[in-house]
Amino acid sequence: MIVRRVVLNSRPGINGIPVAENFRVEEVSLPDTVNEGEVKVKTLYLSVDPYMRCRMNEDTGSDYLTPWQLSRVVDGGGVGVIEESKHTHLTQGDFVTSFTWPWQTEAILDGNSLEKVVPPLVDGHLSYFLGAIGMPGLTSLIGIQEKGHITPGANQTMVVSGAAGACGSLAGQIGHLLGCSRVVGICGTDEKCLLLTSELGFDAAVNYKKDNVSERLLELCPSGVDVYFDNVGGDISDAVISQMNPNSHIILCGQISQYNKDVPYPPPLPPAIQAILKERNITRERFLVLNYKDKFQLGSLQLSQWFKEGKLKIKETVINGLENMGVAFQSMMTGGNIGKQIVCISEEISV
Ligand code: NAP
Repeated sequence: MIVRRVVLNSRPGINGIPVAENFRVEEVSLPDTVNEGEVKVKTLYLSVDPYMRCRMNEDTGSDYLTPWQLSRVVDGGGVGVIEESKHTHLTQGDFVTSFTWPWQTEAILDGNSLEKVVPPLVDGHLSYFLGAIGMPGLTSLIGIQEKGHITPGANQTMVVSGAAGACGSLAGQIGHLLGCSRVVGICGTDEKCLLLTSELGFDAAVNYKKDNVSERLLELCPSGVDVYFDNVGGDISDAVISQMNPNSHIILCGQISQYNKDVPYPPPLPPAIQAILKERNITRERFLVLNYKDKFQLGSLQLSQWFKEGKLKIKETVINGLENMGVAFQSMMTGGNIGKQIVCISEEISV
């Protein structure tokens, strides 16, 4: 079979900014024999995610992520349809997903590496399995449940950074659903701020590129901050933490503002901010969604139910074409996305 695939063309360097040209598309002829236990899949949607930035380095600095290799096919979250199966539990026409899907138009994969998905859960929007009803949605839900300590009726204020992205746009809504009385989002454009307040139910939003975050938070969170869903780290997080109440909680989801720098994860806080954590007994435990796989099934059902009831609004930014994987990644890393950044590889479902 002749396939198109994306390989790693070059590394941005551990302190460099990734660009679309770090990826290269090539057309190759691959054997199309499907052996016992394997399936042939057609790729429908692929995901670009911030964690991929460390896979572009020679050493990811983490024990659960392997580096992508130069001139080898890149992989990540994907959804596709089975065209041919020699696996006992998978049949032609099944929709499947994986965290290690090759960035390739078609592929022969080990059936055991795939998980079947149920299209009615997402009302047929298969890309949602890479977003709200997939890893980012589960990150927001489980992160809040495990680390947020929300008590309904306790009049808690939540702040979300990276609030208009895949995790953040859901985290703020889930904060409300689980009982926070006030949710304030921080993000990078006025358009995103408007979306948060007009469509997603956030009570207020701050544009960190224009506003003075500390001053705006003082106005918008008059009773201080009780729960902070942190997607970005750096100066924004230092400003939020400075306004957190005693015995409050940080959900340490991610630190994207630091991903193009040679710093350990999580990056160390400035001493004055570290001192605030200690003095005010603020929790800031590491959170990694992959450590909660036993909660994925129930979590997906909860997210799907909220979506179908109209309580969880799902946003995505879709770019078409495998050749645009690099463009999509670069755009997501620099704020070009609203909601989950998705790349549509094929909408055509012919099995
Ligand atoms: P996303 O928010 O959809 O996309 C990334 C966003 O980050 C961009 O849209 C941009 O929005 C913002 N950004 C980029 N550079 C920034 C900077 N220097 N300062 C502030 N904001 C910046 O991505 P996502 O997939 O939902 O991931 C969000 C965070 O969650 C990431 O840190 C990721 O690593 C983390 N994560 C963690 C887990 C886990 O298990 N712990 C799982 C999934 C994701 P603006 O326009 O607002 O700048």
